[in-house]
Amino acid sequence: MRARLGDDIDDYCVKCKRVMNHLVVSLLNDEPAKVRCRTCHGDHDFRHEQAPPPKVDPRKAALALEKAAAAAARAAAETLPTDGELPADVMPEEA
Ligand SMILES: [Zn+2]
Repeated sequence: MRARLGDDIDDYCVKCKRVMNHLVVSLLNDEPAKVRCRTCHGDHDFRHEQAPPPKVDPRKAALALEKAAAAAARAAAETLPTDGELPADVMPEEA
């Protein structure tokens, strides 16, 4: 698809925090390079409708990891009460 200056294009707007209508204001190799949000009129690089990766707060990340680990441990405890180890008195019966 060849884009032209002034074309309407969908892209993710960091200010509106969502995919909005944009105007192509700069081209590079027939690809939109810069776009302007039609809602907040902010210019930014064309993002191919991709939201930027969220900024990671180290404390929140650590907390999330802790929660995930706790949830995983809880799930493991619920689904695998023996954790793969058979009690000593339960031996596989083979001939
Ligand atoms: Zn915007």
